[in-house]
Amino acid sequence: MISRILIFIKNIFFIPLAEKYRKELTIKINRTNAANLSIISRTFIILQLITIAFLIINQGKPLFIPSNIISFERYVVLGFGALVIFLLITKLEKDIPKNGTGIVAAGIIFIVFVLAWCAAISLLDQVSYGQIIVYVAAMISIAVVPIFQPYIIFPIYVAVQSVFILLIPMFQPSPDIVSGDIIYSTMVMILAVVISRMRYQNWVKVFENEKNIEEKNDELEKVNTEFGKINEKLKKANEKLKHLSQRDGLTNIFNRSMFDKTMNLEWNKCQRHQLPLSLVMIDIDLFKKLNDNFGHQIGDYCLKQVADVLVFCANRSADVVSRYGGDEFAVILPQTNKEGALTIAKRLQENVSELNIPEIDSQLSQSLTISVGVSSVVPSENSSIEELIKNADQALYEAKKTRNDIQFQSIDKHLNSVLVTDDLNSYSL
Ligand code: GH3
Ligand code: MG
Repeated sequence: MISRILIFIKNIFFIPLAEKYRKELTIKINRTNAANLSIISRTFIILQLITIAFLIINQGKPLFIPSNIISFERYVVLGFGALVIFLLITKLEKDIPKNGTGIVAAGIIFIVFVLAWCAAISLLDQVSYGQIIVYVAAMISIAVVPIFQPYIIFPIYVAVQSVFILLIPMFQPSPDIVSGDIIYSTMVMILAVVISRMRYQNWVKVFENEKNIEEKNDELEKVNTEFGKINEKLKKANEKLKHLSQRDGLTNIFNRSMFDKTMNLEWNKCQRHQLPLSLVMIDIDLFKKLNDNFGHQIGDYCLKQVADVLVFCANRSADVVSRYGGDEFAVILPQTNKEGALTIAKRLQENVSELNIPEIDSQLSQSLTISVGVSSVVPSENSSIEELIKNADQALYEAKKTRNDIQFQSIDKHLNSVLVTDDLNSYSL
């Protein structure tokens, strides 16, 4: 029971600060106290200077104020005290984190000084007109200006109030006024302590809330960053997957499924705009023998080299080079007519024959060659993709008869003609 009461009393006078925020909050409070004390002490200095100047000009005889409440010494004391506090604070303000204790001490000195000065003024005032307004106003002002724990503020108020209660009968002849002043000032003192405690508690709450929000924001930012990273990884993985699903694993050019997709797409485009579409089918000559003689590794290497040549030669952005199957390749040439397609076919053939494959070149007199079948069409309702492929295939079949040859077959079978026939013979393995 007693311990509960003690805890209750402790909670009234001591507002706990979370350990993790204590240092930062203490610095923040010290900074605010230092700034406020500086402003208030400057205000006091200016006010006292004006009052003193006023008194000097009027040779101690003020114009409007009754002379008995004007005392030169009082204002010199207050002005001097404020000057000392101001100089002290200005010095301490230079390094607030280091001078924490100094700022607290300066704050306590300020509170004691102002309260005691105002209490003294109120005591002196008893002789003339019995007011304690200056002292009461000081109590409230001190409750709302500096920010201090109740256990600091409370003893100061109690100490000054005790002296005030002890001294007031010496200044005030009327016992009724004395008891009235004591009750009145004690009530205001309790009110001032409560206000001061509320302010401190508010400060702590606001600060803790700010910190909580900051922490939550930091967490959110971290989650966002993590999410961004995962997203980036997913994006890359998706791109890789897309690449893999579109490409031939060996040659890295497009695969058969991409050939089918592109063919459909380009067919529709060319049909819509009434533009020619050409298909070039390529097959490496005597590739089986090459595999048998030099091994599959060399065979694979040749396939990659040929694929690179095809990509190099069919280099318009719309051209699509794909592996059709085995040693057969297909090149889709959108918006390209027969002449254009044959030019490309010739270029392919020449470039493949110029390929440098050391293992083969050292043993053979002739280089790697390809046979090429070409077909072109302006897509319409009367023709089809299957027909175009069949015709290019047919042309390739014709070219295969002599090998290292280019054949063209029109989609209109009556126009079927051999357009280019190279005299070069196939190499013998
Ligand atoms: P032709 O001149 O008549 O075309 O004769 P060819 O031997 O090239 O005959 P064909 O085009 O039918 O040969 C296909 C050969 O291509 C069969 C196989 O040995 C080879 N081949 C198919 N795919 C691959 C592959 O991925 N790697 C390797 N190294 N060889 C392959
Ligand atoms: Mg072949």
